[in-house]
Amino acid sequence: MNYQDVLSKIYEEIKPFANEGQQATYIPALASVNPNQFGICIEPLDDSPVSSFGAADVRFSMQSISKVFMLAACLSLEGDNLWKRMGKEPSGTAFNSLVQLEFEKGKPRNPFINAGALVMSDILISRMKDVEQTFLNFVREISGSHVDYNRVVAQSEEEQAYLNTAIANLLKYHGNIENKIDDVLHFYILCCSIEMNCCELAHAFRPFADHRHPFCFAGISLTTSQVKRINAIMQTCGFYDEAGEFSYLVGLPGKSGVGGGIAAIHPSQYSVAVWSPRLNSKGNSVMGLKALELLTTETEESIF
Ligand code: GLN
Repeated sequence: MNYQDVLSKIYEEIKPFANEGQQATYIPALASVNPNQFGICIEPLDDSPVSSFGAADVRFSMQSISKVFMLAACLSLEGDNLWKRMGKEPSGTAFNSLVQLEFEKGKPRNPFINAGALVMSDILISRMKDVEQTFLNFVREISGSHVDYNRVVAQSEEEQAYLNTAIANLLKYHGNIENKIDDVLHFYILCCSIEMNCCELAHAFRPFADHRHPFCFAGISLTTSQVKRINAIMQTCGFYDEAGEFSYLVGLPGKSGVGGGIAAIHPSQYSVAVWSPRLNSKGNSVMGLKALELLTTETEESIF
């Protein structure tokens, strides 16, 4: 498959959507990103070359995509005990919703909503020595790049983190946070601030696509079955209250972030990352969604 031709064709087809949506502004530092950017990169698992198009080498804020790496680290450290503290069902609610969490007495629906990620942040703080460096080492090794936290973006989010603070307080009230709320919020927000470009992100998702090979990066190791389960959760929960729509239109496991990035995998075939900052009302990249829909439609390749 020559993905290069497919990518240029897709770009022509999604151009009409270039002005739809708006970049995230509730994180002040993200409001100043030029919204008129688009990049995509596909890394096939066979010997075919990596194909990219547009701003595939411009780094952006990973935001919620980092929850996949947090989940990999938590499953490696906790195994199935993780599921005593959170569920694995789609939420059908926004990523930062409080309502369901109150109703379900502080047990987050899944690891990919903010409540779940705050519990994962708590677990990593308890389990990792020098958590900031240890987690970063893992993300650096899996992406094969010297990526970093963006502390300016993190601080700007932290200063306005009223809703995430409310979620953390509710979790703590229900006994689902061990550490100090400020520490848990700080580390979660820092994880979201890691920056990657599309090619680094596609490479970082390759081990999830290549699920039959051993997964071991900077001491974080997973069994094939655990990788399979992470992919399943991406399929059912990766896009919050738009997970069904993504599954319907694209048909791949994936994860989005409010930085405008989406990473997805076609098991045993390829990993792909796309980025464009303008988001729809559910917080997912408008052009990113369109591009991935066209990718699986035009190649006639998806998991379905
Ligand atoms: N840091 C963001 C937040 O907590 C991540 C949200 C996202 O990417 N969906 O609101």
